[in-house]
Amino acid sequence: MRVQAATWADTKDRDNDQCARCSTRYSLTHQHRRAVGMGGSPTPPSIVDSLTLCFDCNGRCERDLQTIALAYGWKVRRWVGDPGRVPVFYPHLHGWARLTKGGEALRIHATEAAQMMREVYGPEWDQWCAEAGVRTPERK
Ligand SMILES: [Zn+2]
Repeated sequence: MRVQAATWADTKDRDNDQCARCSTRYSLTHQHRRAVGMGGSPTPPSIVDSLTLCFDCNGRCERDLQTIALAYGWKVRRWVGDPGRVPVFYPHLHGWARLTKGGEALRIHATEAAQMMREVYGPEWDQWCAEAGVRTPERK
C-alpha cells in the first residue's frame, strides 16, 4: 500500500527535506525502508518505515547501491519486525540517528548505531560495511 500523504509530509520534515543519500532537495521520493514483496504490504508504511530519497538514489538503492543502503539503514530487510530497531545514517547530520514513531530522528553515536545494527543483523552488517566501504566504529 502507498504511503499516506501526512506520513510522507512528516517524513520529509524529519529528513530536513533532503535525500538521505546525496542530500539533494530535488525530485524527492518516498522510500519504503522495509523491502516489500509481490503484492506490496497490507498497511501503509509508518514514518519509521519511511525515508526521503531522491528519484535517482531511490532507484539505485534497488540496484547498485543495495549493500550500502542496508549498511546505512536506508533499506531494512523484510523480516525485521520493527524498522525502528535499524538506525539511519544521514549525510546532513554527518552521522547516525534512531527513528521514533513520533517522527523524530534522534542523533546517536556511531558505536550505538553499530550495536543496534549488530543486534538485528549480526555479523552480516559488518560484511555489508566491508563490501560497501562503510566505516564502523572499530574500522576507520
Ligand atoms: Zn539522492
